[in-house]
Amino acid sequence: MIEPAALRWQDAVIAEIAILTPRVKSFRLRVGFAARFRPGQHVDVRLTAPDGYQAQRSYSIASAPDASGLIELMIERLDDGEVSGFFADIAEVGDTIELRGPIGGSFVWSAAEGGPVLLVGGGSGVVPLLAMLRHRAAAAPGVKALLLYSARTRQEVIARAELDARARDEPGFALHLALTREPGGRRIDRAAIDAALARIGAPAHVFVCGGNPFVGAVSNLLLDAGVAPALIRTERFGG
Ligand SMILES: Cc1cc2nc3c(=O)[nH]c(=O)nc-3n(C[C@H](O)[C@H](O)[C@H](O)COP(=O)(O)OP(=O)(O)OC[C@H]3O[C@@H](n4cnc5c(N)ncnc54)[C@H](O)[C@@H]3O)c2cc1C
Repeated sequence: MIEPAALRWQDAVIAEIAILTPRVKSFRLRVGFAARFRPGQHVDVRLTAPDGYQAQRSYSIASAPDASGLIELMIERLDDGEVSGFFADIAEVGDTIELRGPIGGSFVWSAAEGGPVLLVGGGSGVVPLLAMLRHRAAAAPGVKALLLYSARTRQEVIARAELDARARDEPGFALHLALTREPGGRRIDRAAIDAALARIGAPAHVFVCGGNPFVGAVSNLLLDAGVAPALIRTERFGG
């Protein structure tokens, strides 16, 4: 559900920028709703050129709701990308950008929904799943969760140190990486889905996020593996 305030464009100041991978940067933005959104939701960002030309894109919130006053976005530079190029090359701490949100009513998970939760992400599609994992750790650490995450190389795994630490320290959380361009690497296939399902048991919720081809392929694999369609929620980033 979208609150009326979420539809209003508002100014947000970039408070912190960090490099996460060769192509992904983290942006922490000061907003009024940092404690009031649901993990999985996104914001719309709008850029306006001096001649009035505007470009608008959606970005998932990576942070869990908290009292920091900040939300975190993680934005991957795409070749020739209009808006991601701005964030990669031009945006600086202290800049003000326009955004609206939080937006999104079905691709969300809160502690009260329980688990087990199976999360499947491709590339930057891991971002809303990170918000869910961060929320789980803070609010429902007893809920079983497994992240099956496909990235090209180990270097391109977003939040790798955090995910490794969670897998080591959080009972009930497991990380399965599918690195497509490492030696011997492979894409998420039926065997990877079966291994994830065997580890987590029958999932109560399944979230799949990434580019269009990734989400389509993974959804089909999940259905082939016998996961009920009603359990599967998807978010497509485009591409
Ligand atoms: C709900 C939602 C949440 C999103 N969350 C995130 C996020 O957390 N982090 C993030 O980095 N992106 C996210 N995206 C994607 C983002 O909205 C933009 O599409 C992306 O940043 C590209 O915009 P651009 O202006 O840089 O590229 P454009 O100038 O629009 O396109 C440049 C080229 O890239 C292609 N392209 C566009 N989008 C994609 C894509 N997603 N994958 C591959 N190729 C593409 C275009 O066809 C074109 O050839 C999300 C999208 C949606 C719908």
